[in-house]
Amino acid sequence: MCGIIGYIGEKKALPIILKSLKKMEYRGYDSAGVALVENDKLIIKKKSGKLDILKKELKDFKNNSTIGIGHIRWATHGEPSDLNAHPHNDCNSELTIVHNGIIENSNELKKSLIKKGHIFKTETDSEVLAHLIEEYYKNNKLEEAVKIALEKVNGAYGIVVFSLKEEKLVAARLGSPVVLGIKNKEYFVASDVAALLPFTKEVLFLEEGEIAILDRQGYKIIKLTGGESIRETQTVDWSLDEVEKDGYDHFMLKEIMEEADTVRASMRGRVILEEGDIRFGGLIDVMDKLKEIDRIIIVACGTAHYAGRIAEYVIESLVNLPVEVQYASEFRYREEPLDKKSLVLAISQSGETADTLAAIRKAKENNVLTFGIVNVVGSTIARETDAGIYNHIGPEISVASTKAFVSQLVIIYLLAILLGRQRKLSRQQAIEILDELNKLPEKIETITAQASKIDEIAKKYYEANNFIYIGRKLNYPIALEGALKLKEISYIHAEGYPAGELKHGPLALIEEGYPVVAIIPQDKVYKKTINNLEEVKARLGKVIAITNEEDDLIKKVTDDVIIIPKTLEILNPILTVIPIQLLAYFIAKRRGCPIDQPRNLAKSVTVE
Ligand code: GLU
Repeated sequence: MCGIIGYIGEKKALPIILKSLKKMEYRGYDSAGVALVENDKLIIKKKSGKLDILKKELKDFKNNSTIGIGHIRWATHGEPSDLNAHPHNDCNSELTIVHNGIIENSNELKKSLIKKGHIFKTETDSEVLAHLIEEYYKNNKLEEAVKIALEKVNGAYGIVVFSLKEEKLVAARLGSPVVLGIKNKEYFVASDVAALLPFTKEVLFLEEGEIAILDRQGYKIIKLTGGESIRETQTVDWSLDEVEKDGYDHFMLKEIMEEADTVRASMRGRVILEEGDIRFGGLIDVMDKLKEIDRIIIVACGTAHYAGRIAEYVIESLVNLPVEVQYASEFRYREEPLDKKSLVLAISQSGETADTLAAIRKAKENNVLTFGIVNVVGSTIARETDAGIYNHIGPEISVASTKAFVSQLVIIYLLAILLGRQRKLSRQQAIEILDELNKLPEKIETITAQASKIDEIAKKYYEANNFIYIGRKLNYPIALEGALKLKEISYIHAEGYPAGELKHGPLALIEEGYPVVAIIPQDKVYKKTINNLEEVKARLGKVIAITNEEDDLIKKVTDDVIIIPKTLEILNPILTVIPIQLLAYFIAKRRGCPIDQPRNLAKSVTVE
């Protein structure tokens, strides 16, 4: 989730670009870069790390260009380095490009462009776009070349292309946001309104498949499928803080609301549906080794640990391999035998979690194959593991993890299918799961649409001092995650239990009004959990249930019900987790807690 910016107008472009990038820093901080004109030549300045590093570098740099582009990167392909930083240019340094998104067929395109003589300098997927456009730019105007090139591309993009030859910017959108800003004779293009607000409130959001052409005379919008788009600008009156959060009060809510897209992004370019197969670029070199493994140990902390607990069920059922999930901080000090046919899989959003890193190092010392599921490209865990899979979901800002958990689950399903297909899982079974995974984003949207209903439920319970969450099988880890989420952001004491365990101890806590959240989709253990809820009701506890329909059984044992769509039993956790995230969020909000930065906690836990 990078930030892109383009400017053409009467003022000096550099200060405008730097100011806009600053407003988009929440979108990425792996590197920053700008492209401008100097002595009729393109000049590119880029640096890995936060924007301030580039700014320092440019302290004494004087430039009068009134046209330029800029980028702030959240790396997906190629580690965060000076070289991989955007903008990227073509072979002749005639055009340059900034990109937000992922080009799925970049490897294929790169190969054929290299055959045609193009010389690549970086490891990014984005550079392919610069050369592809160059290829068609010889006999066409820039916008035509961009259009032809984009027809060849699969994936997601928000781009700005800047051509020296024509003194114009061309922007395009498919899957990544792009917005134009207009102010007299100045024209802007950016990833979001936050970047434009310091300069103008007059904006125009590009729609999917649209291409915008900006020159000194004005702007024009055409469609990828042909023809012109005539649309009006609109005036925005959001504050800057609201804009960065997309109008939401907190990043946590914004990130929950992004979860339908999170599923799409985590699957993008990885599923070969007709073959019921999965392709992870980061695993290509270890595919044969994967056939040999006979045991998986998952090491993770916090929310990622609970994703691992779900992986345990998923991998055992689809792959038929024994799986054990350990707290990374415990794995490190155990003296268990590790043999070479084991795989140690680390799950970490930041890729810097010190406990998880220590676990990986121990596995490596024992010559065990190590894997990472990591969101931050080029992070330490990503570098130190033998192979890995990135989440590709952009930065998660809120300390309490939500969308990263959903993405970790999606990757786990895909990984289980990949390993399963190497073993007992049939093509048909795999296709059935993948088909249903494709339907989940829409199903997620029906849950996030119930936010105000969930807030009403929060209103009834937010003053409680204790909560118990229960679930069975795959939804037992969701109960654990529900309790963790509530503790983290609302400071309410909460515990998660397997529903069947309630009667072995925690039931003693239940008294009149004690809230119990039940994660109880209509699966094979539905009726068993209903019995456990009877036990709660008999002690006058309050039951909030997350289930698929309000049948007679559930009505009898609940006080509040949140309905989620049906899916395959194995995929339920992706849907059941969303109401528990929203419930925690609204309870914490009603208690007036600092949701995005809970006390005593940090996003990336780099101490043991
Ligand atoms: N795929 C591009 C890169 O890695 C853009 C990343 C993004 O938009 O998140 O540089």
